[in-house]
Amino acid sequence: MDTTLMNDKTPKDKVLIPNQDFYKDIFHQHANEEYTQAIQLAQDRVSNFLKNNSKPFSGIRPDDMKAKVEGVDLKIPLPDYESLLNEVDELYVKHATAYHLPEYIAHLNCPVVIPALAAEVLISAINSSQDTYDQSAGGTFIERKLIDWTSEQIGYTDNADGIFTAGGSQSNLMGLLLARDYFSLEYQKWNIKLDGLPPDASKFRIFVSDKAHFSNHKNAWILGLGEQSIVHVGVDSRYRMDPEQLEKAIAKEIEKGNIPIAITATAGTTDFGNVDPLHKIASIAKRNNLWLHVDAAYGCGLLLTEKYRHLLTGIELADSVTIDYHKSFFQPISSSAFIVKNKLHLNIIKHHADYLNPKEQNYEELPAQINKSIIQSTRRFDALKLWCTLRYMGKEKLGQYTDTIIETAEKAANHIDTDQDFELLCHSDMGVLVFRYINGPDQANYCNINQYIKEKLFFSGEVLVASTKVDGQFYLKFTIFNPLTTLDDIKHILNIIKQNANDYQRLN
Ligand SMILES: *Cc1c(COP(=O)(O)O)cnc(C)c1O
Repeated sequence: MDTTLMNDKTPKDKVLIPNQDFYKDIFHQHANEEYTQAIQLAQDRVSNFLKNNSKPFSGIRPDDMKAKVEGVDLKIPLPDYESLLNEVDELYVKHATAYHLPEYIAHLNCPVVIPALAAEVLISAINSSQDTYDQSAGGTFIERKLIDWTSEQIGYTDNADGIFTAGGSQSNLMGLLLARDYFSLEYQKWNIKLDGLPPDASKFRIFVSDKAHFSNHKNAWILGLGEQSIVHVGVDSRYRMDPEQLEKAIAKEIEKGNIPIAITATAGTTDFGNVDPLHKIASIAKRNNLWLHVDAAYGCGLLLTEKYRHLLTGIELADSVTIDYHKSFFQPISSSAFIVKNKLHLNIIKHHADYLNPKEQNYEELPAQINKSIIQSTRRFDALKLWCTLRYMGKEKLGQYTDTIIETAEKAANHIDTDQDFELLCHSDMGVLVFRYINGPDQANYCNINQYIKEKLFFSGEVLVASTKVDGQFYLKFTIFNPLTTLDDIKHILNIIKQNANDYQRLN
């Protein structure tokens, strides 16, 4: 062996690259120290966020928040990571909403699990893109295995397939897109992908309940059908789609000369956390040859539990399903999926680009997830978060978290229901309670009192609740999403609500 030659060669990690200091900020083979330092400092801020937070929100007003951000001169970069993270702390972390505290009980934001946060470190740094195998390797197969796993939880056969998406709204869009294009191909021999909308597309009708997510309306518009294509079906006393009214609505549209193409059922409504009667709706869809999409963005958490899984019975009959892991699987944003019962339907989405996924490639040998993605080409490896979560915690533990949340919500519902100061609209399959404060002589004033309460709570930062309108009336809304939240926490929040109601009555 020629040792002189070896000794002459400088080891790779000792190479002094020209302008080393200038290029230190790029994530590259000599940047380990820089990377580690930056991540350590960022992580310290997260630790402080966890340790110091006694309130879910600082209460800062939008004007003050805006002034802070506007005060920054983007032309002048900061000298080091310390000052960078100090500034971010002031502009963001200190005032960020803390979803992990029991006093945060507002929107559908879950506390996240730690294995998923460890995954985020890898996802952002390694930065794989999930579109093709040559950009993701293991990422492609991890995503596919999780799609298969989710399909199995739904009760689909191995004929199912799907893809991770950016969120429930996007997954719902994919559901309606397939419903629309499949209908036209199958019943009208019309290829919307090639030829655009058929002449009678304005007659297409999609049936959703009064409490379905607004993304259905937006999606109908995006798909060129307009919001006019959405038919609202009435609900029962728990705000679930009423199958009888659905059947009547379909008949009525046909009578009018319109063309029913799809039903979107909601498993876990955003406002009430209740599951539409999936089995009955599926029979109606089948009888009428309609595509059934189940929006389980919220209700997907029920897939995890043994005890409450029965609430989703019938979901396996849907043609497609929306799953939001970032809603009910304790995953950081974004983490969602779109799943179809029959993988052939995903062919509708396929589009070949010579540089990425050429037509002649054998996709059994060299897979490309891009073939199943509508909007995103470059796509994050979000699947790794769910992977780490399942591998470390297991489905059962996540399911027990879900059980605990459902049971706390039920106890809270009973508590609110028996308190004469409050009116609860209905119980929840999951964890959303819609109610209002009703103590006082003047019923006409209930909206004002409850609006006052919500705003006072928000700007005190002590407790964060949401609100919604039902039949034109203003209601407060609890979304219970934290297995650590107890009935005592809820009672404490209700007491604070009462104090604020008393303040209102004293002042008015
Ligand atoms: C939140 C939600 C959506 C939208 O999901 P995003 O991930 O926010 O896009 C859709 N449907 C229901 C029922 C939801 O609760």
